[in-house]
Amino acid sequence: DNHLYSALASAAPSLDKKLALLADGSGVTYGEVLALSARLAGLMVARGVKPGDRVAVQVEKSWPCLALYLATVRAGAVYLPLNTGYTLNEVRYFLSDAEPALFVCRPEIEVEARALAGELGVSCIETLDGEGAGSLMEAAAGFPADFDDVPRGPDDLAAILYTSGTTGRAKGAMLSHGNLLSNARALKECWRFTQADVLIHALPLFHTHGLFVAVNIVLLSGASMFFRAKFDPREAIALMDRATCLMGVPTFYTRLLDQPGLTREAAAHMRLFVSGSAPLLEETHRAFRERTGHAILERYGMTETCMNTSNPYEGERIAGTVGFPLPGVSLRITDPATGAECARGEIGMVEVKGPNVTKGYWRMPEKTASEFHDGFFVTGDLGQIDASGYLRIVGRGKDLVITGGFNVYPKEVEGEIDAIDGVVESAVVGVPHPDFGEGVTAVVVAEKNAGLTEQAVLQALEGRLAKFKQPKRVFFVEELPRNTMGKVQKNILRDSYKDIYR
Ligand code: ATP
Ligand code: MG
Repeated sequence: DNHLYSALASAAPSLDKKLALLADGSGVTYGEVLALSARLAGLMVARGVKPGDRVAVQVEKSWPCLALYLATVRAGAVYLPLNTGYTLNEVRYFLSDAEPALFVCRPEIEVEARALAGELGVSCIETLDGEGAGSLMEAAAGFPADFDDVPRGPDDLAAILYTSGTTGRAKGAMLSHGNLLSNARALKECWRFTQADVLIHALPLFHTHGLFVAVNIVLLSGASMFFRAKFDPREAIALMDRATCLMGVPTFYTRLLDQPGLTREAAAHMRLFVSGSAPLLEETHRAFRERTGHAILERYGMTETCMNTSNPYEGERIAGTVGFPLPGVSLRITDPATGAECARGEIGMVEVKGPNVTKGYWRMPEKTASEFHDGFFVTGDLGQIDASGYLRIVGRGKDLVITGGFNVYPKEVEGEIDAIDGVVESAVVGVPHPDFGEGVTAVVVAEKNAGLTEQAVLQALEGRLAKFKQPKRVFFVEELPRNTMGKVQKNILRDSYKDIYR
């Protein structure tokens, strides 16, 4: 028994059912994907990939990637997808860290990848392009469409997924068959997925959201998905009358709201909109509900733990919250200074425990040890649980500003700044200050021609925020620095403004 693969494959309703519906109107069946995964698994074994070996993949999104993921699991190996935005230099770091037995890369970088592989001792390179063609597929064609799955148990590794690198260098989270399957089962139940579902899949496949939330749920439910390399809001709206669910990051929803075509009628066939990976503004939640009648279901998770909490499917989905712990997940809030559990309503560190939580970071035993607290994983996020049990994420612990001994939660200040006329968005960071330790500093993106000034922003905040929460300086930028997952990189902002109070 191959714990994860057996469960996923046995959920296929029939081999003829369409799994992925492609942009050109064609579709790929469960049978085709499973058969290709057998051929690829055969190829991996022939190329010397042994159980426990890593298979690194940095390719554009195409349907054969689904088979490549499943093949790796079937071969008992460890799937290691890499963000396509990473440069060769970054790839060098990941390959030397993970020491994969096989690296599947884009044809464009084949020459460089081979040189790198030679230098790092990666024995095998294959290519796969955005159309799903390349040396990998050519080689796989010579292998049979069935494969003896390598037995794996719940504790065996299925994947190493690197975090988004929002707060520093990306860390490789080791995810077991049990981590992935238990989470997919919990989400399928929670969000009521069935064979009747058709997901709009426009997320990348190198991140937990698109890969382990979206793909695993679809497979485990025997559902189908519109499979798109990029998110195009107009196309998504056009697909809605044949789809039932969309999973997106918050920017998907703001981009949808920019479209006049987003109406109640356009979204009438849909049953569920899910958001996660970054905070969804309450304003977006409200605007979306007004326009479509749908309350976006926000959930909270991370690379290291898969999903932890979700707003309810039935019952109220509260804007600005991420809902309740998933079945099997224990969650608590602790005082970062003492480690003691906080009283209900207090802000503290979010800690989680459950079958979803990683065994630790790849080859970082010290980092792993420091991120666990009495068996709970320390998420790094600050949160509070309200009287009804809903979790609210207040921000990252690393982003908390301590000024003159007071805690300032950037999210609160950002909320007030964003409400000012002419502000598109903002980021608040703490930077070294000789008197206060850290100075609250706002970085603002203003609407073009809004003529907004530092003085105007500061004035607008007078009386709205306690003095110690008010920014000491306000800077205007064209856009906030974001990583490829669309997350604001506050470490870059802190670095850019580190000398302003000196
Ligand atoms: P790194 O750990 O390398 O700094 P990262 O934490 O951004 O990067 P991910 O694992 O992709 O990498 O992201 C998980 C984080 O995303 C969570 O810890 C949390 O801060 C944020 N997040 C995810 N979902 C939500 C949500 N619904 N609301 C607020 N924040 C969220
Ligand atoms: Mg993180």
